[in-house]
Amino acid sequence: SFHKSKGQHILKNPLLVDSIVQKSGIKSTDVVLEIGPGTGNLTKKLLEAGKMVIAVEVDPRMVLELQRRFQGTPLSNRLKVIQGDVLKTDLPYFDICVANIPYQISSPLTFKLLNHQPAFRCAIIMFQREFAMRLVAQPGDKLYCRLTVNTQLLARVSHLLKVGKNNFRPPPKVDSSVVRIEPRKPRIEVKQKEWDGFLRICFNRKNKMLGSIFRQKSVLAMLEKNYNTVQALNLGQQGAPVDEGNGMDIMGLGDSNDDLMEDIDDDGVDDEMEVEDGDAVGEASEFKNKVLNVLKEGDFEEKRSSKLTLQEFLYLLSLFNKAGIHFS
Ligand code: SAM
Repeated sequence: SFHKSKGQHILKNPLLVDSIVQKSGIKSTDVVLEIGPGTGNLTKKLLEAGKMVIAVEVDPRMVLELQRRFQGTPLSNRLKVIQGDVLKTDLPYFDICVANIPYQISSPLTFKLLNHQPAFRCAIIMFQREFAMRLVAQPGDKLYCRLTVNTQLLARVSHLLKVGKNNFRPPPKVDSSVVRIEPRKPRIEVKQKEWDGFLRICFNRKNKMLGSIFRQKSVLAMLEKNYNTVQALNLGQQGAPVDEGNGMDIMGLGDSNDDLMEDIDDDGVDDEMEVEDGDAVGEASEFKNKVLNVLKEGDFEEKRSSKLTLQEFLYLLSLFNKAGIHFS
């Protein structure tokens, strides 16, 4: 019997399993991490391809079934099963990750993997189709969102395989896709809290012009408060470090899938006509001008987050920081 809450949809098409293993390019020297091995259809092929498989499975009945399946065969020496929730497990070293995961952990799992050190070579993961398309989206695509930019900051992502629901037993409600995720080496270094705060504001309304987003009273008030804090720290206690966090937060781990895929403004309607919750006529604060000048300097005022590249986001954040404007 299968548990819906654990996303237990078993791959029943052996040709598809072969195709996933083949596309993942496992070497005979590889340590393979599998997440959610279930009854072991994928595990068996991974064991045949790699040196060792470490499989993390939350369901104790599945763990038993898996162990029983390989007991007494030569493959069992090269299989290590860890029973537990992958999100709460310290992951061991691995070269490559191959997994047909329960879709509800897609987002936290992706960021857990991408923050794992040392970085692995690549991960080949089955996701819900829409989630997969968000990961691989390009600027201007309908599904381009904060999740896309956060992922592509850390990795190169490509679409490998479309998988229909009938390849699973029981079939899930949605179609799936297999995606390849290759961590960037070297990493693009950002201050995590700063980057996250910045993207949250930019993508709050992804089809709105940045000039309009950064004229919002609430945004300006937050940035001005940060600005004043930084100024005070710099002037008051010389040399005292500004708290930038430890830079090691697992980005997005606190976010649900939905949270990262926010699309409040995804009606495709441009909204530059929207009324700003702004100043009274004629009143323009010095700080507001400072912020708008940064946007003008980089020619960002009339651009929209839905169309900005990762490089443009990085550049805009660097311009803000250079002007002493911070998001955390
Ligand atoms: N890999 C198998 C296959 O392709 O046939 C089964 C895939 S099934 C979609 C997902 C598996 O992940 C189930 O065996 C389920 O028990 C397990 N699972 C669910 N949540 C998990 C978690 N948080 N950590 C580890 N495994 C989990």
